[in-house]
Amino acid sequence: KYYSVAIDGPAGSGKSTVARRVAEHLGFTYVDSGAMYRAVAWQALNQSADFHNDTEIEQIAKELHFQLDKNGWLINGERIDSLLRSPQVSQYASNVAKTIGVRKILVAKQQEIASKNHVVMDGRDIGNHVLPHADVKIYLTASVEERAKRRLNEQQKRGYDGDLQLIMKEIERRDEQDQTREISPLRQASDAVRIDTTSRSVQQIVDEIVTICCT
Ligand code: C5P
Repeated sequence: KYYSVAIDGPAGSGKSTVARRVAEHLGFTYVDSGAMYRAVAWQALNQSADFHNDTEIEQIAKELHFQLDKNGWLINGERIDSLLRSPQVSQYASNVAKTIGVRKILVAKQQEIASKNHVVMDGRDIGNHVLPHADVKIYLTASVEERAKRRLNEQQKRGYDGDLQLIMKEIERRDEQDQTREISPLRQASDAVRIDTTSRSVQQIVDEIVTICCT
């Protein structure tokens, strides 16, 4: 039996930083599920695909090759993390995530990885849908302003500039889209532990989660 930790929450709640560190601490595989949706959006943009054409987007998800190693995802054999973080890809990722066919394909891959590895997986629907029997479920939140500040910081580090007010609006729009979509909306699982990360350090949150996992 493989152990699994599901970490869900909205954009900028600190999921990926926290999840990666928790995985390192426990010696588990970190699975960034959002990067998979981003990869589909990135490839669709490359191919100038029609984002309203579900069949076309689904076909792209089917053809993409996802491989996980200790440094993260290789997409069609290449490490493209910073390309996946561009503001444009972020917007379109949320669009492709509404496509039922895409979700089915990506969820199956995520479940397969968790059936063969001890994982810390982060996303929006992990505790409710991908790993409903996860050993530990965490739901991270933070204020919209704090999340926007983090996103701006992250974008600037990657060489993309941005405006805080605009990012706050974009985050609210994405929250709305993620929470109201018909399939697997973002929602705290009933058995998840909710942790507000506003004004708290990454280390504090990591320690709290590791303690939950080890007790
Ligand atoms: O977490 P991240 O910001 O990288 O996710 C990008 C987008 O992918 C999100 O806005 C969300 O719409 C979608 N997503 C999802 N289900 C997941 C992970 C991400 O729908 N498990």
